[in-house]
Amino acid sequence: MTLNNHYSAIVIGAGPAGLTAGIYLSRARVKTLILNEGTAGGQMILTHEIANYPGVDNISGYQLSNIMKNQAKKFGCDIKANIIIGTLNLEGDIKEVILDDGTKYTADAVILSPGGRSRTLGVPGENELKGKGISYCATCDGDFFTDKEIFVVGGGNSALEEAVSLTKYASKVTIVHQFDHFQAFEFAIEEARSHPKINFMMESAITAFHGTEKIEGVEITDLKTNTKQNYPIDGVFIFIGYVANTEFLEGKIELNKWKEIVVDADMKTSINGVYAAGDSIVKRYRQVTTAVADGTIAALAASKYLHELNQKNKLIQHV
Ligand SMILES: Cc1cc2nc3c(=O)[nH]c(=O)nc-3n(C[C@H](O)[C@H](O)[C@H](O)COP(=O)(O)OP(=O)(O)OC[C@H]3O[C@@H](n4cnc5c(N)ncnc54)[C@H](O)[C@@H]3O)c2cc1C
Repeated sequence: MTLNNHYSAIVIGAGPAGLTAGIYLSRARVKTLILNEGTAGGQMILTHEIANYPGVDNISGYQLSNIMKNQAKKFGCDIKANIIIGTLNLEGDIKEVILDDGTKYTADAVILSPGGRSRTLGVPGENELKGKGISYCATCDGDFFTDKEIFVVGGGNSALEEAVSLTKYASKVTIVHQFDHFQAFEFAIEEARSHPKINFMMESAITAFHGTEKIEGVEITDLKTNTKQNYPIDGVFIFIGYVANTEFLEGKIELNKWKEIVVDADMKTSINGVYAAGDSIVKRYRQVTTAVADGTIAALAASKYLHELNQKNKLIQHV
């Protein structure tokens, strides 16, 4: 390990939470490295258009992520993308991050911001049409479907509540659910059932998406008879759960039963000097704005920790 591989702070994950942490830390003259598996930018780069990020009008997720990345780099933050973390040692005063190619980085503080992913149906056409008519976020994309007909997939509270919220925009919402009953609170079921714009296709599943530039239709399989039928549609919202990208943290840090990182109000985790931010932490609302807010708090708290650590080390040197 060369001295250059030691940073005051290492941020894991370059989505909006991690990039914001990088901006704040670097601007505070904290030597910072952001490590990202895959292309930096996080879920923003999957987002065709972000219309609800304050201060910027109709920007693509890709553009917004580039602005954040350049801002972090401008303040001196190092960003390494397309890496894979092999080993992570978070206990102790010096934290170690070892990549699968053997490169070892060390840091005095770590911010974990690996984000998360919506559960997908995993059927043909879904990957290609994500952000082109297939969405996993009503708050983000509902407005793009004003006066259009849409399908909502799922049968839990999120699916039913989001289906009702989408009726503000869509002319018709059809809930497609694999079972003959919902797994949701009675009031959520009642609200959806009594809504004049909501229809139901029970015991049915979307088994393929059709379209090239944007979604044009779906194949729906009737699970009772196993017959398939194609339907033209303007949009599909999928609400079948959310997964935090915390597999690599299991056994290393406190996670809740949904594998989300447990933090306090300062974004501090169960380990001293380790903070977390963004979609991977225990929280209810997952948006770019909330990720950016968490990243800010984590960076400020980590800066304070690093300052106190420095003071402590100076005192020890004096003794
Ligand atoms: C299709 C879509 C549309 C959306 N539209 C909007 C919108 O319009 N407005 C809005 O506010 N929100 C929107 N969201 C939600 C928003 O993008 C997220 O809430 C936000 O990106 C979360 O930020 P994050 O930094 O916590 O995590 P992420 O954006 O998920 O970023 C995490 C980063 O960490 C990296 N990573 C993961 N695991 C590791 C690891 N082990 N090692 C290193 N790096 C790792 C990932 O590659 C990723 O780059 C949308 C989400 C999707 C999927």
